[in-house]
Amino acid sequence: MFNAKHRETREREQLTKDLRRALKAGDLRVVYQPILDAKREQTVAIEALCRWRHMTRGDIPPAVFIPIAEETGLIAALGEFVLRRACGDARNWPNVILSVNVSPQQFETERFPKVVREILTETGLEPTRLELELTENLLIADLELACGKMRSLQELGVRLALDDFGAGHSSLNYLLSLPFDKLKIDRIFVSKIETGAASAAIIHAIVGIGRALGMHVTAEGIETAEQEQFLRIAGVHSFQGFRFCRPIEAAEISKRLAAEDGACKREVRLALAG
Ligand code: C2E
Ligand code: MG
Ligand code: MG
Repeated sequence: MFNAKHRETREREQLTKDLRRALKAGDLRVVYQPILDAKREQTVAIEALCRWRHMTRGDIPPAVFIPIAEETGLIAALGEFVLRRACGDARNWPNVILSVNVSPQQFETERFPKVVREILTETGLEPTRLELELTENLLIADLELACGKMRSLQELGVRLALDDFGAGHSSLNYLLSLPFDKLKIDRIFVSKIETGAASAAIIHAIVGIGRALGMHVTAEGIETAEQEQFLRIAGVHSFQGFRFCRPIEAAEISKRLAAEDGACKREVRLALAG
């Protein structure tokens, strides 16, 4: 028992060292997952997701390395790296929104709004094309302070999404107190649509609240045609999930958007000809 605990601690320490080195050496990457408009099935947004291929252990999932980065203070540097890289890449993708995840610890730093402003200026991405995804367990410490920070970002034109909605605590209180533009329904509810009436009821309720408050509602983790159909009827605005596209490299996103663009122009030409 003691040995297992000891081994775990040692392993975490080693991973922390390796993560620090990877961050310095530029060994982290960013991949992107499209978010589609529920009506037209066109990409309307792209979520940036960080990836780490460890030199000996292979791919380490974000569910493992993000908490380590959060606990050790590396998250601010990691978050800046992702934001800078993603904003730079998104310059090549006009007309779509770029969504970037922001950790609680990153958001809480005093300089966060300044960092966002600087990166936008440096990369030349229009602020209205950037959306930051915050999670529910984020802002408990000081709602008023968080609200002020959110408003200063929104004044720039940046949008704010509440990620993993329903999976954490105090969600409804956040909706009362904080100015979110978008809600992302957590994957846990989507994955249980086919098997549980409760999930379906909760999704209807979330969409109802989101729409009533004038927010855009996205569902994440869509894997099946049945889930897609249910969510479309429920009134979700946009879709994200392996059913449409897994997270892919920036170059693949560019190709995908170019192909969609071609198809769209073709549709317009056909409509004009018809
Ligand atoms: P998230 O922000 O909720 O991102 C969506 C996660 O769901 C991604 O996992 C994505 O690959 C996965 N996903 C998307 N569609 C499906 C689907 O249809 N089925 C299933 N099973 N999964 C799907 P990923 O990339 O492993 O990231 C996990 C979490 O790690 C993210 O959840 C986010 O909270 C965090 N994360 C990832 N990149 C960053 C980052 O750059 N900064 C911060 N702060 N957190 C990050
Ligand atoms: Mg997210
Ligand atoms: Mg999420």
